[in-house]
Amino acid sequence: VIEMGQAEQSVVTTCAYCGVGCGFKAETKGNQVVRMVPWKDGQANHGHSCVKGRFAWGYATHPDRITTPMIRKSIQDPWQPVSWDEALSYAASEFKRIQAQYGRGAVGGITSSRCTNEETYLVQKLVRAAFGNNNVDTCARVCHSPTGYGLKQTLGESAGTQTFDSVLQADVVMVIGANPTDGHPVFGSQLKRRLREGARLIVVDPRGIDLVKSPHIRADYHLKLLPGTNVAILDALAHVVVTEGLVDETFVAERCEADSFAAWRDFVALPENSPESLEATIGVPAEQVRGAARLFAEAGNAAIYYGLGVTEHSQGSTAVMGIANLAMATGNIGRLGVGVNPLRGQNNVQGSCDMGSFPHELPGYRHVSDAATRTLFEGEWGVQIDPEPGLRIPNMFEAALDGSFKGLYCEGEDIVQSDPNTQHVQAALSAMECLVVQDIFLNETAKFAHVFLPGSSFLEKDGTFTNAERRISMVRKVMPPLGGKADWEVTVALANALGYPMDYGHPSEIMDEIARLTPTFHGVSYDRIEQLGSIQWPCNEAQPDGTPIMHVDAFVRGKGRFMVTRYIPTDERVNQRFPLLLTTGRILSQYNVGAQTRRTPNVEWHGEDRIELHPHDAEERGIREGDWVGVASRAGETVLRATITERVQPGVVYTTFHFPESGANVITTDNSDWATNCPEYKVTAVQVVQVDQP
Ligand code: SF4
Repeated sequence: VIEMGQAEQSVVTTCAYCGVGCGFKAETKGNQVVRMVPWKDGQANHGHSCVKGRFAWGYATHPDRITTPMIRKSIQDPWQPVSWDEALSYAASEFKRIQAQYGRGAVGGITSSRCTNEETYLVQKLVRAAFGNNNVDTCARVCHSPTGYGLKQTLGESAGTQTFDSVLQADVVMVIGANPTDGHPVFGSQLKRRLREGARLIVVDPRGIDLVKSPHIRADYHLKLLPGTNVAILDALAHVVVTEGLVDETFVAERCEADSFAAWRDFVALPENSPESLEATIGVPAEQVRGAARLFAEAGNAAIYYGLGVTEHSQGSTAVMGIANLAMATGNIGRLGVGVNPLRGQNNVQGSCDMGSFPHELPGYRHVSDAATRTLFEGEWGVQIDPEPGLRIPNMFEAALDGSFKGLYCEGEDIVQSDPNTQHVQAALSAMECLVVQDIFLNETAKFAHVFLPGSSFLEKDGTFTNAERRISMVRKVMPPLGGKADWEVTVALANALGYPMDYGHPSEIMDEIARLTPTFHGVSYDRIEQLGSIQWPCNEAQPDGTPIMHVDAFVRGKGRFMVTRYIPTDERVNQRFPLLLTTGRILSQYNVGAQTRRTPNVEWHGEDRIELHPHDAEERGIREGDWVGVASRAGETVLRATITERVQPGVVYTTFHFPESGANVITTDNSDWATNCPEYKVTAVQVVQVDQP
């Protein structure tokens, strides 16, 4: 791991931004990182990186870092710096007081996809073993929870099917609701390489992302649908496949359930699901939908890549199932070059879900109501596990507002800036009696906290991340934790302060426990990861070197299950007061709420969120390039600067969500996915008007 060069040492670790999970060498002098060099042996990136990853150390030593624990009795009081012992015993005594006063279920925990697997595992263990309930959730709730649900229902496993390199064997690629060149740049480059080699491209997106038209690349089809109509277009594509004889009958007969296929086929074949019938709903000419469906179904290898433009809808889970249906019907599962590939926004979305940080599932996606699973964990943990699912994040907010949920341990997640309808989140946090925030910065959520526990960046701890292709990679400590404790040590100390003993000498021991308890991780250990470079789970007795491609000979659930995906329009409609549809996305140089990238200048740094308007909508409102505009929705209003562009279609506007000043989530609503409560960030009816500079 340690080499001598220009720097004093270099340590191989994994990027803490997006779900590609690039390997890097962090070069240091003393305790300072001086350079991040893409690691040529990195199995997700093969020596490539993007601008975010190359500059990924600046925030770690930013003057805004808080390295001393702090407490305050009320959020109106000033913070008091205290010792670790004082902060932890105050937090523990408050959680215990709340449980004695309001009941066992009055407290819970939220963990983050930015944390390591080991840290996430410990947070859900603390909630289940020390709090004695299942009130634990992860920020994957607000991004890819529909992926977990939809892929489990259809394929049997809550994970993507492929390795990233698989795209190099694809003949046709369909990108739905994702913008890989900005959101997942290293994978985006790999995809562009394949497109330059001649692979065909279908983009399904309300906006003209770079892939639609960039040097040497032209999408064969850009299905520029209206926001909120993913399920309708997937049904229309499926209609063409079924009614034009494009089903892979052999694959379906051998690999899929006959009954569920017949029900799905009969449903999508209905005239109401034809591209012509749905043309006005979707906003895409029927001939384009027919052409794209034929191109996809007739390809040798056709692969689907999708992102939050699919999941963050009131029918997010339905759309994920629609994607799986399409892949199964055309026989595009179980080999290189095909598959269903969720592009995970954060470094450890996959891992945080794998680790059981959902209120209904223990690690390995096993339901808490399953007695045999509970018995296994109870034997290891020495406690009784509640068989009832706990509260999801939005349910925690509702319970806080009705007075039944009073205490929250929140690690590595800025829920005020990340979650929809900011005013609602702030009201819920204000109603709590003990909010404990563990983070590297005093973020927007910490403004409502009673205890602040200093967190550690990825450079200050050992652990693992699991990327979008199920690849578990090492995160290695480059410098000591600035606050004196790594995040996993803080959770261990809090559990002990609560009276539940936890004792680990190193994160490798936490992974050993995960492996003992989780069949898909039975073969995973730090030694094995070191040997292989990284491991794609499942890794166990059956697949000792891991699993690059899933569902090869059979689906994890046995036979693939088709699900009927009836399109139900969202409740979020335009009207005279809110005549435009707002959708959201990312830019290359910033990452999520920007807490890290805003504190890390880089060569392509952008300093503000902007709203994109079509020239027609801008002219109608007298708005010029760079003007300040007020954006109002049913939830709230904010002010942004305007960019006039034909990337968006008339009637649709678009913004990013990287800056707290513009607060995109002030205007997003409480609508959410019917199955998982993933917020409907991608469809908000708004009005846009010119205003004076704020
Ligand atoms: Fe790789 Fe994503 Fe990090 Fe960029 S942000 S270096 S693509 S992991």
